[in-house]
Amino acid sequence: MDCYLCSEPMTPQNDSGEHIIPNSIGGMREVKGFICRACNGKAGEAWDADLAKQLNKLALFFRVVRDRGENRAEVIETSAGEKLIYTKSSLKFFAPVIKKEVREDSVHFQISANDMNQARQIATGLKRSYPTLDVEKTLASATTQTKYPDGYFNFEFSFGGLSVGKSFVKTALALLSVNGINPKICERANAYIFNDGEPCFGYYYHHDLLINRPVGVPVHCICVKGNKAERTVQAYLEYFGVVRIVISLSANYEGDDFKHSYAIDPTKGQEITVDFDLEFDESGVKQIYEYQFYDSQVVSDAWHTVIRPEIQRQQEQHLEEVLGKSREAMERRFAGSDHIDLEEFIAAYVDSLTPYIRHLADSGRMRDK
Ligand SMILES: [Zn+2]
Repeated sequence: MDCYLCSEPMTPQNDSGEHIIPNSIGGMREVKGFICRACNGKAGEAWDADLAKQLNKLALFFRVVRDRGENRAEVIETSAGEKLIYTKSSLKFFAPVIKKEVREDSVHFQISANDMNQARQIATGLKRSYPTLDVEKTLASATTQTKYPDGYFNFEFSFGGLSVGKSFVKTALALLSVNGINPKICERANAYIFNDGEPCFGYYYHHDLLINRPVGVPVHCICVKGNKAERTVQAYLEYFGVVRIVISLSANYEGDDFKHSYAIDPTKGQEITVDFDLEFDESGVKQIYEYQFYDSQVVSDAWHTVIRPEIQRQQEQHLEEVLGKSREAMERRFAGSDHIDLEEFIAAYVDSLTPYIRHLADSGRMRDK
């Protein structure tokens, strides 16, 4: 086959190994013989990069599994105005807090940093202005404690744009290509991709097009369907179970019936099997384009269905970590003691759990736990 984008004949040398669903959000399966390396480097990656940028917070939140690369950290702001650096495995304060207090004959600093390295950098910096500061002594007296943000996370999510639309359509065409159907037959997709024509897709939040939706899974899935009688090729695409799109690739199709799909649980990097109920006539397609199948209740349910179980999972995981750390701290503290004073033990144990318990109380989850 020739490259879909530039029509150069594909060879093993110029084949790109394009991911059907971008790897940046957890897509794993690659397609050969679809677009050449040069086109993938120019157009393909630019379109997917825009998509990845818009979905990056979700990719971090769901801790998607990738076969290469890492998702970049995001700076997010809580409802209390705190700025945090959010990565797949950690949550850090954006800026350390340095409090300065001038007393009669001296200046005192209180430093809250994310870790000892950061504390050392700050103390070293301060020494330039205050040469009598003993950095090592200061760091030796530092204590570590768990600090939770005071506010809630504000996740704002907006989605769209020409290149993101092209990334959607490319995903559908890649799935056609890997199943031996020449994507060039899709005149509507071609007009959009090559001539920046009218979008050949619309957001779809109406009845569930997934017949056996996996419960609580932020699924990525794509289905392409050719209908001989209706002469249509249509696609349905979902990202994280919340971005839901119907694509009308062709209304001029002359081949046989077909239906192909690819679905993945991006939190595990595992392919899953789902079935689709995809069949729209031309008036249905028009209604989708005009946002007539955009039910805000369905949008809200779609989010809740995947976000809630993940939050619960992460909270349970965090509790395990807190208990594990507490156990380690107690073992260190009482290692080798023949006699353990009960009062001291209880005080130390409560002390090690206090930040967590306080956090539960502050976030109104005390009763649940
Ligand atoms: Zn090309």
